[in-house]
Amino acid sequence: MSTQHPAGPHYRVEAADPSAHLYQVTLTVAQPQGAQRVSLPAWIPGSYLVREFARHLQKITARQNGKPVAVHQLDKASWQIDCVPSAPLVVSYEVYAFDNSVRTAWLDTQRGFFNGTSLCLKVDTQEHLPHALELVAPRAFPHWEAATGLEPLKTGKRGFGTYRAADYDELVDCPVELGPLWSAEFRAGGVPHRIVVAGTTASFDGERLVADVQKICEAQIRFWHDRRRPPFKSYLFMLNAVDDGYGGLEHRNSTALIASRRDLPRLGDSRSTEGYVTLLGLVSHEYFHTWNVKRLRPAEFAHYDYARENYSQLLWFFEGFTSYYDDLLLRRAGMIDEPTYLKLLTKTINQVLQTPGREVQSVAQSSFDAWVKYYRQDENTANATVSYYTKGALVALCFDLTLRLEGHTTLDQVMRGLWARCKGGPMAEADFAAVLKELGGRAFTREIAAWVHGTRELPLKELLERHGVAVLDEPSQLQQRLGVRASEANGSIVLKTVLRGGAAEQAGLAANDEWVGVEVAGAAWRLGKLDDLLLYAGTHRKVTAIIARDRRLLRQELALPASASTWRLALRDAATAQAWLGQQG
Ligand SMILES: [Zn+2]
Repeated sequence: MSTQHPAGPHYRVEAADPSAHLYQVTLTVAQPQGAQRVSLPAWIPGSYLVREFARHLQKITARQNGKPVAVHQLDKASWQIDCVPSAPLVVSYEVYAFDNSVRTAWLDTQRGFFNGTSLCLKVDTQEHLPHALELVAPRAFPHWEAATGLEPLKTGKRGFGTYRAADYDELVDCPVELGPLWSAEFRAGGVPHRIVVAGTTASFDGERLVADVQKICEAQIRFWHDRRRPPFKSYLFMLNAVDDGYGGLEHRNSTALIASRRDLPRLGDSRSTEGYVTLLGLVSHEYFHTWNVKRLRPAEFAHYDYARENYSQLLWFFEGFTSYYDDLLLRRAGMIDEPTYLKLLTKTINQVLQTPGREVQSVAQSSFDAWVKYYRQDENTANATVSYYTKGALVALCFDLTLRLEGHTTLDQVMRGLWARCKGGPMAEADFAAVLKELGGRAFTREIAAWVHGTRELPLKELLERHGVAVLDEPSQLQQRLGVRASEANGSIVLKTVLRGGAAEQAGLAANDEWVGVEVAGAAWRLGKLDDLLLYAGTHRKVTAIIARDRRLLRQELALPASASTWRLALRDAATAQAWLGQQG
């Protein structure tokens, strides 16, 4: 260790064995405590599930003064090392990395990616010190590059070398991408931004992606700060293009994204496919989080406890309001037109209206329970829970449209008011209520109680209609009419969920049933597609469903309900809608 190195922990990460998916990590603690404790996080901020990253850590050993010292495991994720305080402690271990998501770590012969929460042991009592991360260039892959949001301390052209983090929080909030990367740079709000993409094909139109992402960034920086600079010195988008995948995780000055290669823009094709709009929505969502959850954040997240669940009732605000603005800002930046925006909003509304769990759980409860409900979905999820993303977005819509009707302020101004009030830091629900009252000219206690803490329907219809949007009824799909969610593959129909209070539930159908056939007026039919039920039933309202459950064939009497309807939004008064959809308020 030279004197230039910070006094805090130093991690040397090698892509040691890509074929075995193993990283080799060497952690040097220059000034350890006697009996130093180290631990690996159980979760990663932004993804509210205990994932037990330590289950992939192996072969941990320690040395001091060149001699081995004993390592005692204390629990599933922490160790105590028999060292003395006088000399540097060197801890070595391997981490198995074969999860191709944005939340953990990956290593193969094509690519590497990791979050510090998977690879970097936390050194007890040194969390607040500067941390160094040394990325070793793999000799077997001379064309690989490294990219991360961390501040470079001493790095080469390809990005390998040593980076610095102010503390452990920053270290694990800056994931690292490794591999042959497509890369481009641009500026937004006067700040350098970079996009790296892994897994591209020859058809990839990188120039178009960069131009569109830049527009999104400019619009959001303007949203929060008008002409002033954003609160970060640089920003990095890491996009992993795969055959089939979707997701993102927000960080303080970067984001890791996964998207399907089919959704990337293609050379010589200027259309905006549904998939590309979805990708831009994801970019917009994660970038908005740079303010809304990474800086402005639940008071409970002021200091993360990496060992266990960190509960918050506010995810409806941080995920829901971010979901409201992700598509709205695409519209305002001119990347989608109003009918396309209303189509996306229609989808969100129908998702919530088709979830019986909205009558069981409020979005505040759904936020708190994310660890065991939203992140652990099963056949009962739709009946017992509501998504704080989708309903939270509709709560934001209701606040925005109400504020605009009353004419004192807009939700945009409330967001900036909150940023100012909380100095871009921890906030409580009371802060939201206070800013609403201050800018909105009255208290919104009743709305917060009903929309955030209640389970009754939101006043979407009247609010949308008063903003120039018509709410039309459309006949719903047969699955919705029957109250089931089913998968159809190779001529086999399997029920995934039986919705509360629906016809299928009343008929005694259950999740995991295979819907084999139907009997109508004495004739029995083998069902290959659920929609064929209407082909065989004709005008008959009573049929017999034949299902297979645990190898038994069961006959269940089913009353087919009259047609049900879903919503469709349409522009009725463009000038009125323009005030909301057209510009920043
Ligand atoms: Zn989010």
